[in-house]
Amino acid sequence: MTLLSAEIADALSKGSWIRRIFEMGAEMKKLHGADRVYDFSLGNPDLPSPPVVGQCLAEMAERAQEPFAFGYMPNAGYPHVREALAEQVSREQGMAFTADDLLLTCGAAGGINAFFRAVLTPGDEVLCPRPYFVEYGFYVGNHGGKLVTAPAKLPSFDLDVPAMLAAVTERTRVIMLNSPNNPTGRIYSEEALTELARGLKALNAKREKPILILADEPYRFLAYGGATVPSLPRIYPYTAVASSFSKNLSLAGERIGYVAVCPTMPGKEDLMAGIVFANRILGYVNAPAIGQAILLKALGSQVDASVYEDRRAAMAKVLADAGYEFHLPEGAFYFFPKAPGGDDVAFVGKLRDQRVLAVPGSGFGLPGYFRLTFCVDRKVIENAAEGFARAIQDFEK
Ligand code: PLP
Repeated sequence: MTLLSAEIADALSKGSWIRRIFEMGAEMKKLHGADRVYDFSLGNPDLPSPPVVGQCLAEMAERAQEPFAFGYMPNAGYPHVREALAEQVSREQGMAFTADDLLLTCGAAGGINAFFRAVLTPGDEVLCPRPYFVEYGFYVGNHGGKLVTAPAKLPSFDLDVPAMLAAVTERTRVIMLNSPNNPTGRIYSEEALTELARGLKALNAKREKPILILADEPYRFLAYGGATVPSLPRIYPYTAVASSFSKNLSLAGERIGYVAVCPTMPGKEDLMAGIVFANRILGYVNAPAIGQAILLKALGSQVDASVYEDRRAAMAKVLADAGYEFHLPEGAFYFFPKAPGGDDVAFVGKLRDQRVLAVPGSGFGLPGYFRLTFCVDRKVIENAAEGFARAIQDFEK
């Protein structure tokens, strides 16, 4: 007997790859010692938050006794924080956003859920390229929607625009794009995004409601070698951006993010009102007061991205020296190499035999690959070189 709904019982019984590897990793660390297990499974930012975060918390402690220091607030967040954030989003996206164009949310994940709650009718489809961040299926399902995927271009993982457009149906309500991408590290090219926007505009002409794009951008700040992340609101007006400070300020546990709606979107006031209402009725009510206070002080600061860039180079060298095939990530903190032999689950097992932890591509909707996260010290990457080399040995020609 289970007290659970069939859907949740089913999800729990399947488990998640990341969770499984995490649990195996914990066992292995007990057995071999933490420094002899090379764990590339989790995307939990390991760099310390910038000092301004601690300074802000100290100031908040001084004010903690004041009435309403942590009281309820408008569901969209503190107006002065929204104003300051609008300036930053305007700089990042290269167009003028005002405080009324955005709301603060419980991380990007909270924002994505509020957005879907506001726009999906049960049975609607959300389309995204695969591989994809596996939580998307749950976020869409939470609101009665169905996640549909179309293949990305291989081996570059750029958008395959004809494949995306071919997967659009009458029920497609949202196209979800994550760039820089988890798990591939791909930044979608301006050309591909412009071509997609052109195709969508043509489809919209025959529809009652336009298809929306949701740009999921928590990794926007992590673009390597001078790469830039194109602004989707500039390319397609029916775009909303969901983002957070989980990665750029290493605040993942504090749950602070936002949704910003393209300032030139027809009907944007209506959409904003719907997302703010959904943020309330989903029980988030508003984004954390402490997170917003931190944000106000920390806007413009970020973790030292050069550390990630350095690790990317170290990982690329380890993988290339050992003979792996991979696309060098342009952004985010993931590699998504090809699994030698083609069976990703079996190959991740081979890596595990070498005490190297990775996640099979099957966990992201693309078997035949595996994901490595570089939220670990450069030394861990270098010390894992031997394990990477041994695991591939059986497959070398
Ligand atoms: N989207 C992607 C692609 C992610 O990788 C993550 C977190 O890892 C999220 C959204 C959720 O981020 P947040 O912590 O801001 O909710």
